[in-house]
Parts: sequence; C-alpha cells; structure tokens
Amino acid sequence: MKNISFKIDGRNCTAEQGQNLIEAAKQNGIFIPTLCHFKHLNPLGSCRVCTVKNNGRTIAGCTLNVDEGMDIEVNTPELLDARKAILEMMFVEGNHFCPSCEKSGDCQMQNLGYETGIRYTRFPHLFVDRIVDARPERIVVNQNRCIKCKRCIEEVRTTDGNRVFNFTNRGNKTLVSIDYEQEAKLSDTQAEHAMHICPTGSILVKGKSFGKPFGNREFDYSNKEKNISFNEIKKHKTTHKKKRIATTSLAGCFGCHMSMLDVDLGILDLIEVVEFNKSPITDIKNFTEHCDIGLIEGGCCNTHNIEVLREFRKNCDILVSVGECAIWGGLPAIRNTVPLEECLKEAYLNSMTSEENEIIIPNHEDIPKILNKVYSNHEVVKIDYHIPGCPPNANHIWNVVKHILFEEEYSIAYPEFKYD
Ligand code: SF4
Ligand code: SF4
Repeated sequence: MKNISFKIDGRNCTAEQGQNLIEAAKQNGIFIPTLCHFKHLNPLGSCRVCTVKNNGRTIAGCTLNVDEGMDIEVNTPELLDARKAILEMMFVEGNHFCPSCEKSGDCQMQNLGYETGIRYTRFPHLFVDRIVDARPERIVVNQNRCIKCKRCIEEVRTTDGNRVFNFTNRGNKTLVSIDYEQEAKLSDTQAEHAMHICPTGSILVKGKSFGKPFGNREFDYSNKEKNISFNEIKKHKTTHKKKRIATTSLAGCFGCHMSMLDVDLGILDLIEVVEFNKSPITDIKNFTEHCDIGLIEGGCCNTHNIEVLREFRKNCDILVSVGECAIWGGLPAIRNTVPLEECLKEAYLNSMTSEENEIIIPNHEDIPKILNKVYSNHEVVKIDYHIPGCPPNANHIWNVVKHILFEEEYSIAYPEFKYD
C-alpha cells in the first residue's frame, strides 16, 4: 500500500493511501470525535459528530478516505461549534436524564458533551413521548436515549448471522425496532456486547446495567478538586465591602443547597468575604438589600417559581443557575414527556396513597398554579452563568462565585463535574 502525505489543521500527516480519515488522524495523534464510527464497520456517517472540511467542503470525516495532498480542517472554531451544535441537537431531540441514567459515567455521548463544553443547549428540549421497551428476553431498549447511530443494527447478530435490530418509520419518527425472536437467541456475551457498542444508554442488559459501579466507569476521572480559599483574595482586596449573596430553591430537591453547605471549613473563609441576604440558609424571606449575586437552584414548575425568579432578577446584579434542574428542568422535567392531565391523575387519583374513589386534584387560590411544563430558568429571565452537575460539587459552586465576584476567569474542568 502506498504512503501518502496530507494535512490536518495545517499539520503534516502521513498514512496509507485510502485509509479511513478517523483512523489515519488517530495514527497521527489527532482525535476526531464520533459516535457511530467503528473501525471494522463500513462507514455509517449517521451521527455527523465527526464533521470536518476537506479542501473547504464540509463532510462527515468517517466517510472520507485519505489521499495525497488533502487539506483537512478538524478543530477550527466553526467546526468545533458545529460539532457542539450537533450534540446539543441530540440531547434536546431525545430525553436524556443523566442523573438517573444507568449508563452515566460509561456513556460516550455524555462524555462528548463534557469534552465539547456543553453547559446548556441553545435549542429548546422537545420532551418527546417515547417508550422504554422491556419486552425482549434479555435487554431493555430505552427509545428516549437512542441517537439512531445504527451501530446496533450493523453490529449485533445472532450466532446464525441474523440481525436483531432495525429501523422502523422515517424522519424524526424513526425508531430502532427489535426482532424479539432473534433477540431471544442472543447469548449472554452477545447481549452484553450490544449494551457496550451502544454509545448511549439506549440498550441495557437486564440485571447488568449497574455491573460496573460509579467511580470505576470508563469516563470517571480522579477527583482533582481544589478546596476554596477566599483568603488569598481577601488579602489583595482588603478595601472591598463584603459581597451580598441571595439563594433560593425553585423546582429542585434542595440537593444543591445541601451541596453548598458541603464546603466544610471553607465556610469560614467564605463568610469573611460575603454575607447572605434572602436565602433558606439565613431564613431571610424577603430581600432587605440589593445583592451582587443570586444563586438559583431548580427550574420553574409553578407560578410562584416564576414570581420568585423574576424577583431575583430584579434584586441581583448577577444570576446563576445552579444544577441541572435550574439549567434545563432536570428530573422534575421528566413530567414534560407526559401530558399534564395524565400527570395530575397519576399523582392525585391513581397513586398508591390515594383513597379509593378519590376525585380531588388540589386547586385553591392560595396554591400556586402548576405550569403546563417545567421551564428552565433561562427561558424565563436572563441567566448570566450556569453551574452544571446534579448536584454540583460545593467547591465548584463557591469557586464559580469567588471568580465571578472578583472578576476573574474560571471554568470548571470536565473531570470535576459528574452526575453520579
Ligand atoms: S444515554 Fe444516559 S448518560 Fe448518556 S447522555 Fe443520555 S441520559 Fe446521559
Ligand atoms: S440503540 Fe444505541 S446503538 Fe442502536 S441506534 Fe440507538 S443509540 Fe445507536
């Protein structure tokens, strides 16, 4: 096979003529992310995450074979943003509740979300109504998490060579269907292989999905967090008045507030430079002064949440959404995938704790009105910063606050925030 020379982002590379670009790039120490490509499969070109430019023309990198003189662009600002946008579209098109997902920490799509720096999406979440199919013998297919990458269709076969998965429907109605008869013929190893080749948590093997504990999963990293110390800043800014902080919990579980308190002795440094105004931490119910920064846990599920959020916007210079519920709805937004009427019936009429023949769904002028769906905070007011995580680690919350208040650059590194 002839060796050829080509360029990636201006760097000279060599490979065998006709070699697949993803593999050729890897050989030259350049990583091109992809969710559908597998070395031994014919290029699928379905996820488009590997979008590159070849001599100025946009193309899925996995469908390209290298040739002499090619000039490939991979990591230009335009392509990095396009890749991020493609991933964001995948996240909003399905229902991805990472904090409750069995694949969290082992999921290639989640990992790429971290790698590309997605903190929130520029597109609205669709909250589609999709099924979780537990009818197969060994596996469960959660259609909410499927990105239609086609890996399972091409890769998973029974020992007789029959396919187990296929696509049904077209366009945005496309789903992965399962041939139950063939699925029942899969060996344990073949079923587990199906789970592992799925780049998301769409295919799970019954009883095996938590086989690898959190902390030992593929994309778990060692804990590199640094404890906060406001003392350093205090030394240099002795003339500054204490900054004022307000916090609230909207449609959240108070986990983010619990996490804020998890800073342990750091709280002693913290109270040297900030004071708390309206907050569950102080139990001050109303703003008594204008604040520098407002930390919001939880999204908006009722009219009271909206009022409180607007009040925070009015009374705080900088607003920060803390945690997944504030950023995009989080676990409370699971209800966005089900019509509101059905949710209310399930919660108040059909639940295990309802009295027989109960017919009352609470409705009183003193009770805030439930909204048609759970809204993220930035859909209601302008949010200045987002701190991801479920819940975010205490050090991240206070490190972000510290750097915002004293106008210094700070970005939470990917290994530092997790959902498990
Ligand atoms: S499959 Fe699971 S872990 Fe992966 S992005 Fe979706 S919800 Fe998160
Ligand atoms: S089930 Fe998994 S492997 Fe199959 S198409 Fe969906 S995301 Fe890809």
